[in-house]
Amino acid sequence: MAKIALVTGATGQDGRYLVDLLLANRYVVHAQSRRAPPPGAADGVRWHIGDLTSSAFLEQLIVDTRPDEIYNLAAVSRPIMSWQFPRETADVNAFLPQNICELLLKHKPDCRLFQASSSDIFGDGFSERQNEQTHCVPKSPYAVAKLYGHRIIGAYRKQYGLHACSGILFNHESPYRPLSFVSQKIAYAAAAAACGLKDTPELDERGRPILSDGKLLLGDLGVRRDFGFAGDYAEVMHMVLQHPTADDYVIGTGEDHSIQEFCELAFRSVGLDWTDYVSVDPKLIRKTDSHYTHADPAKLRSVFNWHPKVTFPELVSTMVEMQVKRVRDDIALERSRNSVTKRI
Ligand code: NDP
Repeated sequence: MAKIALVTGATGQDGRYLVDLLLANRYVVHAQSRRAPPPGAADGVRWHIGDLTSSAFLEQLIVDTRPDEIYNLAAVSRPIMSWQFPRETADVNAFLPQNICELLLKHKPDCRLFQASSSDIFGDGFSERQNEQTHCVPKSPYAVAKLYGHRIIGAYRKQYGLHACSGILFNHESPYRPLSFVSQKIAYAAAAAACGLKDTPELDERGRPILSDGKLLLGDLGVRRDFGFAGDYAEVMHMVLQHPTADDYVIGTGEDHSIQEFCELAFRSVGLDWTDYVSVDPKLIRKTDSHYTHADPAKLRSVFNWHPKVTFPELVSTMVEMQVKRVRDDIALERSRNSVTKRI
Protein backbone atom coordinates (compact mmCIF):
# COMPACT_ATOMS: atom_id res chain seq x y z
CA MET A 1 0.00 0.00 0.00
CA ALA A 2 1.26 3.46 -0.91
CA LYS A 3 2.10 5.69 2.04
CA ILE A 4 0.08 8.86 2.50
CA ALA A 5 1.87 12.16 3.14
CA LEU A 6 0.47 15.56 4.02
CA VAL A 7 2.65 18.61 3.32
CA THR A 8 1.63 21.98 4.78
CA GLY A 9 2.95 25.16 3.14
CA ALA A 10 3.43 23.03 0.03
CA THR A 11 3.58 25.95 -2.42
CA GLY A 12 6.75 27.25 -0.76
CA GLN A 13 10.33 26.57 -1.79
CA ASP A 14 10.80 23.42 0.30
CA GLY A 15 7.29 22.17 -0.36
CA ARG A 16 7.96 22.09 -4.09
CA TYR A 17 11.05 19.89 -3.73
CA LEU A 18 9.47 17.69 -1.09
CA VAL A 19 6.26 17.08 -3.03
CA ASP A 20 8.28 16.00 -6.09
CA LEU A 21 10.38 13.69 -3.93
CA LEU A 22 7.35 12.09 -2.29
CA LEU A 23 5.65 11.56 -5.65
CA ALA A 24 8.85 9.97 -6.98
CA ASN A 25 8.71 7.65 -3.96
CA ARG A 26 5.14 6.69 -4.90
CA TYR A 27 3.41 8.39 -1.98
CA VAL A 28 -0.16 9.60 -2.15
CA VAL A 29 0.53 13.29 -1.60
CA HIS A 30 -1.89 15.72 0.02
CA ALA A 31 -0.73 19.33 -0.11
CA GLN A 32 -2.09 22.27 1.86
CA SER A 33 -2.03 25.92 0.86
CA ARG A 34 -4.06 29.03 1.71
CA ARG A 35 -4.45 29.78 -1.98
CA ALA A 36 -4.90 28.00 -5.29
CA PRO A 37 -1.69 26.17 -6.22
CA PRO A 38 0.50 27.97 -8.77
CA PRO A 39 0.43 26.81 -12.39
CA GLY A 40 2.86 23.94 -12.84
CA ALA A 41 2.41 22.64 -9.26
CA ALA A 42 3.03 18.91 -9.34
CA ASP A 43 0.36 16.84 -11.09
CA GLY A 44 -1.09 14.00 -9.09
CA VAL A 45 -1.15 16.03 -5.86
CA ARG A 46 -4.38 16.40 -3.93
CA TRP A 47 -4.64 20.04 -2.88
CA HIS A 48 -6.46 21.24 0.23
CA ILE A 49 -7.02 24.97 0.30
CA GLY A 50 -7.56 26.53 3.70
CA ASP A 51 -6.19 28.30 6.74
CA LEU A 52 -4.25 26.15 9.17
CA THR A 53 -5.05 28.49 12.05
CA SER A 54 -8.71 27.43 11.69
CA SER A 55 -9.04 24.48 14.06
CA ALA A 56 -12.02 23.16 12.09
CA PHE A 57 -10.04 23.15 8.81
CA LEU A 58 -6.99 21.55 10.42
CA GLU A 59 -8.99 18.79 12.10
CA GLN A 60 -10.91 18.02 8.90
CA LEU A 61 -7.63 17.95 6.96
CA ILE A 62 -6.18 15.29 9.23
CA VAL A 63 -9.41 13.30 9.47
CA ASP A 64 -9.91 13.35 5.67
CA THR A 65 -6.33 12.58 4.64
CA ARG A 66 -5.40 10.12 7.44
CA PRO A 67 -1.67 10.67 6.74
CA ASP A 68 1.17 8.28 7.57
CA GLU A 69 3.57 11.24 7.51
CA ILE A 70 3.07 14.98 7.97
CA TYR A 71 5.68 17.54 6.94
CA ASN A 72 4.78 20.81 8.63
CA LEU A 73 6.48 23.44 6.49
CA ALA A 74 3.88 26.23 6.70
CA ALA A 75 5.23 29.28 8.48
CA VAL A 76 5.58 33.00 8.48
CA SER A 77 9.03 32.27 7.12
CA ARG A 78 10.77 35.66 7.05
CA PRO A 79 12.01 36.86 10.43
CA ILE A 80 11.62 40.51 9.34
CA MET A 81 7.91 39.94 8.51
CA SER A 82 7.32 38.46 11.94
CA TRP A 83 7.68 41.96 13.44
CA GLN A 84 4.75 43.11 11.30
CA PHE A 85 2.61 40.06 12.11
CA PRO A 86 3.72 38.89 15.57
CA ARG A 87 0.39 37.29 16.56
CA GLU A 88 0.00 35.45 13.26
CA THR A 89 3.61 34.32 13.60
CA ALA A 90 2.89 32.85 17.03
CA ASP A 91 -0.29 31.15 15.76
CA VAL A 92 1.41 29.51 12.79
CA ASN A 93 5.03 29.01 13.85
CA ALA A 94 4.42 28.10 17.51
CA PHE A 95 0.89 26.81 18.06
CA LEU A 96 0.26 25.05 14.75
CA PRO A 97 2.83 22.28 15.51
CA GLN A 98 1.21 21.82 18.93
CA ASN A 99 -2.30 21.71 17.43
CA ILE A 100 -1.11 19.08 14.94
CA CYS A 101 0.29 16.98 17.81
CA GLU A 102 -3.03 17.23 19.67
CA LEU A 103 -4.98 16.15 16.59
CA LEU A 104 -2.62 13.25 15.92
CA LEU A 105 -3.16 11.99 19.46
CA LYS A 106 -6.91 12.16 18.84
CA HIS A 107 -7.12 10.80 15.29
CA LYS A 108 -3.85 9.25 14.04
CA PRO A 109 -1.33 8.57 16.83
CA ASP A 110 0.84 6.37 14.58
CA CYS A 111 1.40 9.22 12.07
CA ARG A 112 5.00 10.51 11.84
CA LEU A 113 5.53 14.27 12.00
CA PHE A 114 8.40 16.40 10.67
CA GLN A 115 8.50 19.95 12.02
CA ALA A 116 10.51 22.59 10.13
CA SER A 117 12.45 24.25 12.90
CA SER A 118 15.05 26.95 12.26
CA SER A 119 18.64 27.86 13.10
CA ASP A 120 17.24 31.28 14.04
CA ILE A 121 16.29 29.72 17.40
CA PHE A 122 19.97 29.95 18.37
CA GLY A 123 20.06 33.73 18.05
CA ASP A 124 23.41 35.42 17.96
CA GLY A 125 26.75 35.79 19.62
CA PHE A 126 28.10 32.32 18.93
CA SER A 127 31.54 31.96 17.49
CA GLU A 128 31.36 28.19 17.55
CA ARG A 129 29.23 25.89 15.41
CA GLN A 130 25.66 25.17 16.45
CA ASN A 131 24.29 21.71 17.21
CA GLU A 132 21.30 20.13 18.94
CA GLN A 133 22.68 21.12 22.37
CA THR A 134 23.47 24.77 21.63
CA HIS A 135 21.86 27.28 23.98
CA CYS A 136 18.99 29.16 22.28
CA VAL A 137 18.67 32.95 22.47
CA PRO A 138 15.96 33.74 19.87
CA LYS A 139 15.71 37.41 18.94
CA SER A 140 12.63 37.89 16.71
CA PRO A 141 8.97 36.83 16.99
CA TYR A 142 9.84 34.35 14.20
CA ALA A 143 12.65 32.77 16.19
CA VAL A 144 10.78 32.78 19.53
CA ALA A 145 7.77 31.10 17.92
CA LYS A 146 9.95 28.56 16.09
CA LEU A 147 11.64 27.71 19.39
CA TYR A 148 8.25 27.05 21.00
CA GLY A 149 7.31 24.80 18.07
CA HIS A 150 10.66 23.04 18.33
CA ARG A 151 10.42 22.38 22.05
CA ILE A 152 6.76 21.36 22.00
CA ILE A 153 7.51 18.68 19.42
CA GLY A 154 10.11 17.21 21.78
CA ALA A 155 7.72 17.46 24.72
CA TYR A 156 4.91 15.57 22.92
CA ARG A 157 7.39 12.95 21.75
CA LYS A 158 8.55 12.32 25.32
CA GLN A 159 5.16 12.59 27.01
CA TYR A 160 3.02 10.63 24.53
CA GLY A 161 5.52 8.69 22.41
CA LEU A 162 4.49 10.50 19.20
CA HIS A 163 6.91 9.87 16.34
CA ALA A 164 7.60 13.60 16.00
CA CYS A 165 10.93 14.97 14.73
CA SER A 166 12.20 18.49 14.48
CA GLY A 167 14.74 19.49 11.83
CA ILE A 168 16.71 22.59 12.82
CA LEU A 169 17.11 23.92 9.31
CA PHE A 170 19.94 26.28 8.44
CA ASN A 171 19.55 28.61 5.43
CA HIS A 172 18.77 26.75 2.26
CA GLU A 173 18.26 28.32 -1.11
CA SER A 174 17.24 27.39 -4.64
CA PRO A 175 15.86 28.92 -7.81
CA TYR A 176 12.44 28.80 -6.04
CA ARG A 177 13.55 31.16 -3.26
CA PRO A 178 11.32 34.27 -3.27
CA LEU A 179 12.95 37.55 -4.30
CA SER A 180 12.39 38.92 -0.81
CA PHE A 181 15.36 36.83 0.44
CA VAL A 182 18.84 38.28 0.09
CA SER A 183 20.28 35.28 -1.79
CA GLN A 184 17.72 35.57 -4.57
CA LYS A 185 18.04 39.36 -4.67
CA ILE A 186 21.77 38.96 -5.33
CA ALA A 187 21.17 36.25 -7.97
CA TYR A 188 18.55 38.42 -9.68
CA ALA A 189 20.69 41.57 -9.59
CA ALA A 190 23.69 39.72 -11.05
CA ALA A 191 21.45 38.32 -13.81
CA ALA A 192 19.90 41.71 -14.54
CA ALA A 193 23.35 43.36 -14.71
CA ALA A 194 24.56 40.63 -17.06
CA CYS A 195 21.55 41.30 -19.32
CA GLY A 196 22.44 45.00 -19.44
CA LEU A 197 19.66 46.33 -17.18
CA LYS A 198 20.35 49.35 -14.98
CA ASP A 199 16.91 49.39 -13.31
CA THR A 200 14.98 46.18 -12.76
CA PRO A 201 11.22 45.79 -13.03
CA GLU A 202 11.29 43.80 -9.77
CA LEU A 203 11.25 46.01 -6.68
CA ASP A 204 12.64 45.61 -3.18
CA GLU A 205 10.70 46.03 0.09
CA ARG A 206 11.13 49.80 -0.12
CA GLY A 207 9.54 49.90 -3.56
CA ARG A 208 12.80 50.59 -5.39
CA PRO A 209 14.17 48.54 -8.30
CA ILE A 210 16.34 45.73 -6.89
CA LEU A 211 19.08 46.91 -9.25
CA SER A 212 18.65 50.66 -9.18
CA ASP A 213 20.83 52.85 -11.39
CA GLY A 214 23.07 49.81 -11.76
CA LYS A 215 23.47 49.29 -7.98
CA LEU A 216 22.24 46.59 -5.62
CA LEU A 217 21.89 47.95 -2.08
CA LEU A 218 22.51 45.46 0.72
CA GLY A 219 22.91 45.55 4.50
CA ASP A 220 25.78 43.89 6.36
CA LEU A 221 27.98 42.01 3.89
CA GLY A 222 29.89 40.38 6.74
CA VAL A 223 26.88 38.30 7.90
CA ARG A 224 27.91 34.65 7.63
CA ARG A 225 25.44 31.87 6.97
CA ASP A 226 25.49 28.14 6.51
CA PHE A 227 23.89 28.00 3.04
CA GLY A 228 22.59 24.71 1.64
CA PHE A 229 20.47 23.62 -1.32
CA ALA A 230 16.72 23.21 -0.65
CA GLY A 231 16.49 20.01 -2.74
CA ASP A 232 19.12 18.38 -0.52
CA TYR A 233 17.21 19.44 2.60
CA ALA A 234 13.90 18.02 1.32
CA GLU A 235 15.71 14.68 1.04
CA VAL A 236 16.88 15.00 4.65
CA MET A 237 13.35 15.76 5.88
CA HIS A 238 12.12 12.54 4.29
CA MET A 239 15.12 10.53 5.49
CA VAL A 240 14.72 11.70 9.08
CA LEU A 241 11.11 10.50 9.19
CA GLN A 242 12.08 7.02 7.88
CA HIS A 243 14.35 6.34 10.87
CA PRO A 244 12.75 3.94 13.39
CA THR A 245 13.47 6.34 16.27
CA ALA A 246 12.12 9.88 16.31
CA ASP A 247 14.66 12.58 17.15
CA ASP A 248 15.75 16.16 16.45
CA TYR A 249 18.55 17.02 14.01
CA VAL A 250 20.53 20.05 13.00
CA ILE A 251 20.31 20.21 9.19
CA GLY A 252 23.12 22.24 7.65
CA THR A 253 26.19 21.80 5.50
CA GLY A 254 28.83 22.52 8.16
CA GLU A 255 30.31 25.36 6.03
CA ASP A 256 29.68 29.05 6.40
CA HIS A 257 29.95 31.81 3.80
CA SER A 258 29.49 35.57 3.97
CA ILE A 259 26.99 37.62 1.99
CA GLN A 260 30.03 39.18 0.33
CA GLU A 261 31.18 35.74 -0.87
CA PHE A 262 27.67 35.15 -2.25
CA CYS A 263 27.95 38.43 -4.19
CA GLU A 264 31.45 37.62 -5.46
CA LEU A 265 30.40 34.21 -6.80
CA ALA A 266 27.09 35.40 -8.23
CA PHE A 267 28.56 38.27 -10.25
CA ARG A 268 31.63 36.25 -11.22
CA SER A 269 29.40 33.50 -12.62
CA VAL A 270 28.20 36.00 -15.27
CA GLY A 271 31.65 37.48 -15.85
CA LEU A 272 31.17 40.62 -13.71
CA ASP A 273 32.99 42.15 -10.74
CA TRP A 274 30.62 42.46 -7.76
CA THR A 275 32.33 45.61 -6.46
CA ASP A 276 31.03 47.51 -9.50
CA TYR A 277 27.42 46.69 -8.59
CA VAL A 278 26.99 46.19 -4.82
CA SER A 279 26.81 49.03 -2.31
CA VAL A 280 26.13 48.91 1.41
CA ASP A 281 23.19 50.86 2.79
CA PRO A 282 23.52 51.06 6.60
CA LYS A 283 19.72 51.46 6.86
CA LEU A 284 19.39 47.85 5.68
CA ILE A 285 21.47 46.41 8.53
CA ARG A 286 19.17 44.32 10.74
CA LYS A 287 19.60 44.34 14.49
CA THR A 288 17.79 41.10 15.21
CA ASP A 289 18.89 38.79 12.42
CA SER A 290 21.45 36.17 13.37
CA HIS A 291 24.87 37.44 12.34
CA TYR A 292 26.55 34.07 12.21
CA THR A 293 25.13 30.61 11.59
CA HIS A 294 27.33 27.59 11.10
CA ALA A 295 25.87 24.13 11.57
CA ASP A 296 27.55 21.25 13.30
CA PRO A 297 25.69 18.42 11.52
CA ALA A 298 27.73 15.67 13.24
CA LYS A 299 24.61 13.85 14.50
CA LEU A 300 22.99 13.85 11.05
CA ARG A 301 26.24 12.54 9.57
CA SER A 302 26.72 9.81 12.13
CA VAL A 303 23.12 8.51 12.02
CA PHE A 304 22.50 8.85 8.28
CA ASN A 305 25.98 9.36 6.80
CA TRP A 306 24.49 12.42 5.11
CA HIS A 307 26.51 14.87 3.02
CA PRO A 308 25.11 17.66 0.84
CA LYS A 309 25.19 16.94 -2.89
CA VAL A 310 25.21 20.55 -4.09
CA THR A 311 28.20 22.76 -3.22
CA PHE A 312 27.96 26.46 -2.40
CA PRO A 313 29.44 27.65 -5.74
CA GLU A 314 27.10 25.28 -7.65
CA LEU A 315 24.12 26.59 -5.69
CA VAL A 316 24.96 30.24 -6.40
CA SER A 317 25.64 29.73 -10.10
CA THR A 318 22.43 27.68 -10.58
CA MET A 319 20.39 30.43 -8.95
CA VAL A 320 21.97 33.09 -11.17
CA GLU A 321 21.49 30.93 -14.29
CA MET A 322 17.76 30.61 -13.57
CA GLN A 323 17.48 34.35 -12.97
CA VAL A 324 19.26 35.09 -16.27
CA LYS A 325 16.59 33.00 -17.99
CA ARG A 326 13.85 34.85 -16.12
CA VAL A 327 15.26 38.31 -16.97
CA ARG A 328 15.70 37.36 -20.65
CA ASP A 329 12.10 36.06 -20.78
CA ASP A 330 10.86 39.30 -19.17
CA ILE A 331 12.81 41.40 -21.69
CA ALA A 332 11.44 39.35 -24.62
CA LEU A 333 7.88 39.67 -23.28
CA GLU A 334 8.25 43.44 -22.86
CA ARG A 335 9.58 43.75 -26.43
CA SER A 336 6.70 41.74 -27.88
CA ARG A 337 4.19 43.85 -25.90
CA ASN A 338 5.78 47.05 -27.22
CA SER A 339 5.69 45.82 -30.81
CA VAL A 340 1.97 44.89 -30.47
CA THR A 341 1.22 48.36 -28.99
CA LYS A 342 3.06 50.06 -31.90
CA ARG A 343 1.04 48.06 -34.46
CA ILE A 344 -2.22 49.07 -32.73
P1 NDP B 1 8.40 29.51 2.09
O1 NDP B 1 8.16 30.87 2.62
O2 NDP B 1 8.88 29.36 0.70
O3 NDP B 1 7.09 28.63 2.25
C1 NDP B 1 6.34 28.62 3.42
C2 NDP B 1 4.88 28.41 3.09
O4 NDP B 1 4.13 28.61 4.29
C3 NDP B 1 4.35 29.43 2.10
O5 NDP B 1 4.44 28.96 0.77
C4 NDP B 1 2.91 29.66 2.53
O6 NDP B 1 2.05 28.87 1.72
C5 NDP B 1 2.87 29.14 3.95
N1 NDP B 1 2.57 30.28 4.84
C6 NDP B 1 3.15 31.48 4.87
N2 NDP B 1 2.57 32.27 5.78
C7 NDP B 1 1.60 31.54 6.33
C8 NDP B 1 0.61 31.82 7.30
N3 NDP B 1 0.56 32.99 7.89
N4 NDP B 1 -0.24 30.83 7.61
C9 NDP B 1 -0.17 29.63 7.01
N5 NDP B 1 0.73 29.32 6.05
C10 NDP B 1 1.60 30.28 5.73
O7 NDP B 1 9.40 28.80 3.13
P2 NDP B 1 10.44 27.62 2.84
O8 NDP B 1 9.83 26.62 1.94
O9 NDP B 1 11.73 28.23 2.50
O10 NDP B 1 10.60 27.02 4.31
C11 NDP B 1 9.82 25.90 4.74
C12 NDP B 1 9.88 25.84 6.26
O11 NDP B 1 11.23 25.73 6.70
C13 NDP B 1 9.31 27.07 6.96
O12 NDP B 1 8.65 26.65 8.12
C14 NDP B 1 10.53 27.87 7.31
O13 NDP B 1 10.32 28.71 8.45
C15 NDP B 1 11.52 26.76 7.63
N6 NDP B 1 12.90 27.17 7.45
C16 NDP B 1 13.34 27.52 6.20
C17 NDP B 1 14.64 27.94 6.03
C18 NDP B 1 15.15 28.33 4.67
O14 NDP B 1 16.29 28.78 4.58
N7 NDP B 1 14.38 28.15 3.61
C19 NDP B 1 15.58 28.02 7.16
C20 NDP B 1 14.99 27.65 8.43
C21 NDP B 1 13.71 27.23 8.54
P3 NDP B 1 0.67 29.48 1.12
O15 NDP B 1 0.85 30.94 0.90
O16 NDP B 1 0.49 28.69 -0.14
O17 NDP B 1 -0.37 29.15 2.13
